[in-house]
Amino acid sequence: MAGVHFIDDAERFAHRAWESLKLEPPVDVSKVAKRLGIELYKEEFVPEVDGLYLLIPGAPPVVAVNCSYLKPPGRQRFTTAHEIAHHLLGQRIKSPARIFFIDSVKTSKTLLERACDRFAALLLMPEDLVRKWFEELSANPENRIAIMSERFGVSPWAMRVRLRELGLPYRSWDRGKIIR
Ligand SMILES: [Zn+2]
Repeated sequence: MAGVHFIDDAERFAHRAWESLKLEPPVDVSKVAKRLGIELYKEEFVPEVDGLYLLIPGAPPVVAVNCSYLKPPGRQRFTTAHEIAHHLLGQRIKSPARIFFIDSVKTSKTLLERACDRFAALLLMPEDLVRKWFEELSANPENRIAIMSERFGVSPWAMRVRLRELGLPYRSWDRGKIIR
């Protein structure tokens, strides 16, 4: 099942990035892109677009992220990590003439797209650190989501999704402002 492999690969790539690049939170996504030889651009696109990935044979891979003020920094970082995953997972696709993905608010969540989100979540919010900080901040549940999303450099929305994934219960008053 190719789709299952995508998820496994996404997880493995994220772990490998942490090990080989000596990453620290908030993860420097541009450093990860650079190490992979990706040219990273920030552009103001129409609001529907979050980012894109383009690979033309013979040219460096390109990731472009929408840096419009409508896209908060945490979201831009998640999009950058998502597009990096398109590069990593694209290497499984056999000799294409060209690879192009454009991610928008309406991009359907295929297995590949979900694997790219998985990579982004694990790269930006590795499980051991999420659990550690969640525990450490247990005396401060009102501000826990805000503090953790700030430390990881992600949106509160992405932080809550990650906590749910890991089965970490947060109270309703952790909710705060929904940015993403
Ligand atoms: Zn995508």
